[in-house]
Amino acid sequence: MKIFYSLQDFINANIRVQSFVPTMGNLHEGHLSLINAGKKYKKNTCVSIYINEGQFNNKKDFDNYPRTIEDDIKILESCDVEYVLIPKKSDIEKYTSSLSSKFEPKTLTSDLCGKYRPGHFYAVMDIIYRFFQIIKPEMIVLGEKDYQQLIIIAELIRIMKYDIRLISSPTIRNTDGLALSSRNNHLTKKQKELACDIYKALHLSKELLKENFPIEKIYQEIDIFFSKSPIKLEYFAIRDLKTLQQSYDNDLIALISCYVGNIRLIDNLIIRSFNSKS
Ligand code: AMP
Repeated sequence: MKIFYSLQDFINANIRVQSFVPTMGNLHEGHLSLINAGKKYKKNTCVSIYINEGQFNNKKDFDNYPRTIEDDIKILESCDVEYVLIPKKSDIEKYTSSLSSKFEPKTLTSDLCGKYRPGHFYAVMDIIYRFFQIIKPEMIVLGEKDYQQLIIIAELIRIMKYDIRLISSPTIRNTDGLALSSRNNHLTKKQKELACDIYKALHLSKELLKENFPIEKIYQEIDIFFSKSPIKLEYFAIRDLKTLQQSYDNDLIALISCYVGNIRLIDNLIIRSFNSKS
């Protein structure tokens, strides 16, 4: 496994990256599942570890983001990753250009999580755009856990006409249904147990859809569910799986963002059309 801390070294090495897995480090089974998903299609995997300050809506969150580089490197070594890129901010600014804001699909980036995190998705698009300039991967692997991010990067690839395949990989959960996330490290044992309500609520919405409840009624039921829980719901939404628009004829996705204590968690559940077999 070759680790690059310098973008100039990475460029000079003239590497052919087939599968690119961007991360912010503090790696867990969710990240590893992306690496393995990529390996099914292509070898030559490059994992980036970069905590992108622009994505954070407050400086404290950025400062408190877990930094576990040494452990991360050990984990990556054990799963046969070919290249790891751990760039410095100054290198990224020196060797790449930023994404013009005219390419930001604002209706998508200011909806759902974007409504509560202004500028977040533009910063995500920008860093991926910059990584593409350096890494030039054949494929990028992203987790369904951050579903809106996945759709926005799919849009970036479409707008820029990149010949890059996007592979989406299912959310990895603990045995109680809580989606793995670096943010879970900030939860107490009790809060972790509580946070399993998020997955329960998503399942409830799926059951209600199956029973043909009208969408507005499902929203009401989810509000009732959370009114009985110490979890503070930020939003619940049911959207079209492919477009994230409010259309309900095809496969759907239920999305939740909420606060457990002062930790913001997001999760979602894909709900295939009940007319199809899956
Ligand atoms: P992050 O390090 O949080 O920026 O995440 C890097 C990548 O890992 C993103 O594509 C995430 O969607 C993905 N990811 C994070 N948590 C999970 C999870 N529990 N299951 C699957 N993928 C995940």
